[in-house]
Amino acid sequence: MADRPRRWGRQLKFLLMILTATAAALWTAPPAAAAAAHTCQTETPVIGVPTKGGPAYGGMQYPRMVGLGPKEVALTFDDGPDPKTTRRILDILDRHCVKATFFMVGIYAERHPEIVREVAARGHTIGTHTWSHPNNLRPFSATQAQREIRRGFAAVEAALSRAPEEDRNRLAPFFRFPGLNDSKSLIEWLGQRNVATFSCEFGADDWKSISSAQVRIRAIRNIASVGRGILILHDTKPRTAEMLSDFIMAMRQQGYSFVQMVPEPGGREMAAGAQDPLIGPVRRADAASVLLGTIIEPSLEPPAPLR
Ligand SMILES: [Zn+2]
Repeated sequence: MADRPRRWGRQLKFLLMILTATAAALWTAPPAAAAAAHTCQTETPVIGVPTKGGPAYGGMQYPRMVGLGPKEVALTFDDGPDPKTTRRILDILDRHCVKATFFMVGIYAERHPEIVREVAARGHTIGTHTWSHPNNLRPFSATQAQREIRRGFAAVEAALSRAPEEDRNRLAPFFRFPGLNDSKSLIEWLGQRNVATFSCEFGADDWKSISSAQVRIRAIRNIASVGRGILILHDTKPRTAEMLSDFIMAMRQQGYSFVQMVPEPGGREMAAGAQDPLIGPVRRADAASVLLGTIIEPSLEPPAPLR
């Protein structure tokens, strides 16, 4: 008799263990993108940016702005993909249902192609930011500078080559000069390839050694002084990831909204159809047949066995 309560206790403990294990097995956190898809009531509005002839945008350096309305802001993130911070930033953007543009560095795109694919799969726009991010292309020879730009596009394109067509299409004919150090001749060279250049209307100094609170304060202050435009941030900076959620909420409280920049319809094809293009067509076979006037027949023959 004295044994019974102890046995019951043991059985109860066993039952609790099973219940705990079952609950743990059943409770798995949904992937961030899937969770965001459930919670987003509305998509981030998009703005089609004309890229024909390669206009340069951004009031900090150029007379032309992308066509944003009052209190509309386009977020841009430079210098990634970064294995430590880019996904953190993607999660925050998903949580707040905001889509942005990522200007990627080729060398990092080549090193972390899975993050490039994730940025695309989560619906963001991808532009490029040279191959190795020299802070200033101006001292480079034309050939060297062009090679830097070309290789930047090629690296992102290679990372997306195995992605679904919809995701490959996220690579836009958008380019940003490292350090915003442009040159007239390179803007023209990009323009001949129907690739637009992007500066910004405001930054937030997130590349300086300041606190995340300071980044947030400067972003909000700089945006308020202009009222609309493109904000430059860096997805390589932990301080940017730290302030991003509070920043988005503060902006919305002040009546601002976020808009995603995408190429105007046909922009990607126009860039791919340029002479000596920097990006290829998304549908390679189709576009090639249009461009070359030939029909590319897939080979149904099995390849000849190696001897
Ligand atoms: Zn940069």
